[in-house]
Amino acid sequence: MSIAGQLRPCHINNNNSLPSHLLGHSIATRLRFDRHSISAAASDFGRLVKYPPPAAVFRPSRPSDIAALLRLSHSSPQQQPPFTVAARGRGHSTRGQALAPGGVVIDMSSLGGGIAVSPEGMYVDAGGEKMWYEVLRETVRYGLTPRSWTDYLYLTVGGTLSNGGVSGQAFLHGPQITNVYELDVVTGLTPWCKGELLTCSEGLNPKLFFAVLGGLGQFGVITRARIALERAPKRVRWMRLMYTEFEKFGKDQEMLISNKHEAAAEHGDAEWEAALEWRLSYVEGSLLMEHSLRSNWRSSFFSDGDLARLKHLAFLNQGRIYCLEASYYYYSHAPARMEKDVEELLEKLSFTAGFAFANDVSYVDFLNRVHEGEVKLRGLGLWDVPHPWLNLFVPKSNMTDFHAGVFKAIMMHNKFMGPILVYPTSRSKWDERMSAVVPDEDVFYSVGILLSSADDWESLEKQNIEILQLCDRLGMKIKQYLPHYRNREDWMKHFGEKWERFAAMKRRYDPKAILSPGQRIFAQRI
Ligand code: FAD
Repeated sequence: MSIAGQLRPCHINNNNSLPSHLLGHSIATRLRFDRHSISAAASDFGRLVKYPPPAAVFRPSRPSDIAALLRLSHSSPQQQPPFTVAARGRGHSTRGQALAPGGVVIDMSSLGGGIAVSPEGMYVDAGGEKMWYEVLRETVRYGLTPRSWTDYLYLTVGGTLSNGGVSGQAFLHGPQITNVYELDVVTGLTPWCKGELLTCSEGLNPKLFFAVLGGLGQFGVITRARIALERAPKRVRWMRLMYTEFEKFGKDQEMLISNKHEAAAEHGDAEWEAALEWRLSYVEGSLLMEHSLRSNWRSSFFSDGDLARLKHLAFLNQGRIYCLEASYYYYSHAPARMEKDVEELLEKLSFTAGFAFANDVSYVDFLNRVHEGEVKLRGLGLWDVPHPWLNLFVPKSNMTDFHAGVFKAIMMHNKFMGPILVYPTSRSKWDERMSAVVPDEDVFYSVGILLSSADDWESLEKQNIEILQLCDRLGMKIKQYLPHYRNREDWMKHFGEKWERFAAMKRRYDPKAILSPGQRIFAQRI
């Protein structure tokens, strides 16, 4: 299948109607058929796909409701395919991954799973439906915090753990999926598991545990996650350093993440935390385009005066500059110590003189930084628009070609709005046993081309296709993050060596391909 076919909005037909045995069951009172519920569950943040709507929306109040729903799907009358079921966190997917055309969408927000912090165990038990912002708000009351984040916190625990969960902390702590001790999962109905809630971890039902993490919702519904915590810093020195040369920008980012990497290898994690606590805790670079400096959910950091200077710098540099965003968390240290550490660190970096910016903010405000941008964009009517986002993991060895071919050539005349993230992370922080796939290289870049357009998203899609074709032509070993493919062959290529295991886990935990049909990986079998 050609790459050109991958990213077009697609139409799938699945006109299952719900069987009468479901409607007669006691959990039927949790089904919603009204127009408002159905239309809310029929689209997502991307606003790109046009699938048939679900037949119903299910509002469970406890995991056993979800188990009952899955059992009923499996016991559909013969000759009738089981109805499909998709858990929907907040529907922040962009290509229909949380939709269930003709099936049942589980509105996870009704679950009411709670958030329980264990200061002794240094973990938090959070319902799969909880948003990360809610988890943060609760854990900081105990002076604790999860270690690894996404940029935006209004995503759900179950939704990001089904993908990966990456941000500027991933180089240090790994993605969110490697910061989980235990899960409760409602699986499909198989001879091995009877559509019940299973607890899994590295030591208990490990196959399910590793399959579900990054498993794109294919093996079960996460109803609880036990997430690792660390001590929460009070404040953050949040810096943005500007570069006009991509090579220097990349080199500095790689140096910042490798410090941690080498130190971790040398000392072991615990010792290293203590010894290097003062170093940067977050590194996340981005490409800034001259035309997109203002209407962007990452621009609230800068004053109007700063933005004018940046625009001029970009203008002098063919319309683009590079921004190294780095944060220093203060734990117990006095601000004077922080100032000294930051000063020493900045001396080692090669950003453009006079273009270092800094803000001091509370830890919570730092983590919740995208929300301010969201409010601003909502006010401008620029939030609920099509989002043909492209997220890629690009091996470090391909970045020079990627920069020349994509940022300098294909995107040369790009006029779309939105952030373009470009930052390195370390493969050693990922866990091979999990379903998530990353390039086979020690350091790879997370590239998020997060552009949007109210009226010309088709051009953006064409640009995405061009980018993927270029990567293919140049033989780059990239992997899509939040992947989207239209046929089995491309999914097999995506998973590579992990495909056999992924397919075997599907046969084991959801053999009738009921779960998360919007990912379009497995066809339904009766
Ligand atoms: P949904 O979109 O509702 O679901 C995603 C998939 O997971 C679907 O297949 C669904 O069926 C399945 N699913 C949902 N809940 C469960 C569950 N409990 N159990 C099993 N399967 C489930 N991602 C990052 O990694 N880093 C970022 O910095 C980041 N920033 C973002 C910023 C914005 C503004 C947006 C819109 C998205 C961002 N994302 C980021 C992407 C985000 O991780 C995905 O959208 C992800 O799908 C989470 O969204 P959600 O919780 O709404 O899940």
